[in-house]
Amino acid sequence: MQLLTAQQVLIGPSGEKLSPGAVLVDGEVIVAVGTVRDVESQAPRNVQLLEFPDGTILPGLINSHVHLAFGADKDIVDTLVRIDDSDLLQSMADRARQHAAAGVTTVRDLGDRRGLITRLRDSIERGELVGPRILAACAPLTPPGGHCHFLGGEVSGAEEIRTRIGYNAELGADVIKVMGNGGQMTPDGPGMADAQFEAEELRLIVEEAHRRNLPVAIHAYATETIAAAVNAGVDTIEHCTFVGVDGKPDVRDSIAKAMASAGIAASPALPSGWRQMWDMLGPERSQAIASRLKWLMAQGVPILFGSDAGVPISQHGDPVSTLELYEHIGVPPSTVLELATTGSARTLGLSDRTGSLRAGLAADLVAVDGDPLVDLQALRSPELVLSRGRAVVRPQSSA
Ligand SMILES: [Zn+2]
Repeated sequence: MQLLTAQQVLIGPSGEKLSPGAVLVDGEVIVAVGTVRDVESQAPRNVQLLEFPDGTILPGLINSHVHLAFGADKDIVDTLVRIDDSDLLQSMADRARQHAAAGVTTVRDLGDRRGLITRLRDSIERGELVGPRILAACAPLTPPGGHCHFLGGEVSGAEEIRTRIGYNAELGADVIKVMGNGGQMTPDGPGMADAQFEAEELRLIVEEAHRRNLPVAIHAYATETIAAAVNAGVDTIEHCTFVGVDGKPDVRDSIAKAMASAGIAASPALPSGWRQMWDMLGPERSQAIASRLKWLMAQGVPILFGSDAGVPISQHGDPVSTLELYEHIGVPPSTVLELATTGSARTLGLSDRTGSLRAGLAADLVAVDGDPLVDLQALRSPELVLSRGRAVVRPQSSA
């Protein structure tokens, strides 16, 4: 067993903390959380003690939108076309480890090449590799030549939609990803606001996925696509930027209200390099992004923390830069941390496994020097990361 003590222990929900506090871990599971005296009394004599007298222990972070198959380089598509499966799998394993080393103990991978991700997920689960818990989408559904078609998920018509969802389910997908409209990185692909599926097809996708108990995550920028996705009953809307047909913001309270009441989450997937992006967009457009985020939160739409890690301006293993964006637009650090832990776990249906520090949950936790509630930078170099009890980062003295 491992007994961890710290100046403060953040349980997960904003405002719930122990200072000082302790966490007792047995194998993969947290067995006790409480005051140091309480938890010490439950620990066996031979327990391994790790103390963080000036530090903070908090739940491992959840990054709800990553692409381990992408290397955050400028030529993602070319690189992906050239690399073979075994080299790609090795790169994906390295990137998964980078996330975990940065304190991210769960990632939702929303599109890789032909489902290699499930092999990586299973190797980590078997303990052959160290890494985060992975929720895998496999190849996203897209029309022929559509956004990210090179990942292998092209479908045309109802029959192919059914077959593809069945195939991904058989590979072991945890979620079905559909490219609702175009994007930026597909050469000669449809534009960002161009719908890729009819409303009826979206309904079929949701029906097929839900029949197999799989949630649906849709990539959607356009307000019309978001509206159709909400009507179809998807579970999460990736990016969710509410862009009108003229390319200008077109936010609609009625859609946000429908999302809030149905529990459909917005997953903004804001890149780690957002500062660079905002400089490029200029003050007016970046202000619009900030206002949209605050508007979604004010409407009560569940928000998922995510970074789209792997796309050109979003690095693997850098959750802190994206957390800083929320701080930058005025969200208090305690709310930001809740969003990236307990909040995202709840929205992804993982509350019974991870996202908080409670007895019975997986030992997914991070210990850092200092207080991230005062300065999120404290999260930059974790002293200890446990992912389901396995050490990804360990203090030098205990190695
Ligand atoms: Zn993405």
